[in-house]
Amino acid sequence: KERVELIRKELDMHVSGADVSKPCISFAHFGFDDALLDVIIKLGYSDPTGIQKQAVPVALSGRDIIGIAKTGSGKTAAFIWPMLIHIMDQEELSKGEGPIGLILAPTRELASQIYIEAKKFAKAYGLRVAAVYGGASKMDQFKELKPGGIEILGRLIDMVKMKATNFRRVSFLVLDEADQPQVRSICDNIRPDRQTLLFSATFPKKVETLAREVTTEPVRISIGYVGQ
Ligand code: ADP
Ligand code: MG
Repeated sequence: KERVELIRKELDMHVSGADVSKPCISFAHFGFDDALLDVIIKLGYSDPTGIQKQAVPVALSGRDIIGIAKTGSGKTAAFIWPMLIHIMDQEELSKGEGPIGLILAPTRELASQIYIEAKKFAKAYGLRVAAVYGGASKMDQFKELKPGGIEILGRLIDMVKMKATNFRRVSFLVLDEADQPQVRSICDNIRPDRQTLLFSATFPKKVETLAREVTTEPVRISIGYVGQ
């Protein structure tokens, strides 16, 4: 217990919530299988980042998360890895329509960055990743959507209008820097027993309010100073 406190203190990490999993200081402690570890090693990552050390075990335990850490701290992988493992755990993975993991992002640029990062790791399991956003050829993007896998939505307003995809199977939802009003209506269309992770570089009142609305008994993890 003291060791856990020490690890968190050294990382300038602040954690709140009941029964929070211990942080993992190395990739070996995450319990990832060789397929995923191989990709991580090939990318040259030596250790998990601070947010990854705590968010990954908490996410793998099935809890909702509010994660706050500055830009560049590896928040994407912190949610992609547990999402992939969650998807692989689903019994009827290849049956039914629509994605199991869904990531909401505020802009096309962010959505495409997440897409690139997600693809690196999804290939460990042969899972499909689709990014959907306004502009370009929307119908082509929708055609790419296949059962299972991950879907990343940017330009949320288009999605709400078009009701383009089937969210019925989504059981792992991530809000990545997504704080627009449209986020709520999308969350309202996703099964209430889902696991929800919200990640942000900052934590203004607006994000805090949204986070409280869309998560259930979340574990809050922040790295460094978080202004209100
Ligand atoms: P954030 O979303 O917090 O701004 P990103 O997820 O975009 O940060 O990650 C920033 C960069 O760090 C990316 O290039 C990513 O591939 C890299 N990265 C993520 N995790 C690690 C790690 N454990 N070791 C080294 N590099 C990492
Ligand atoms: Mg990010």
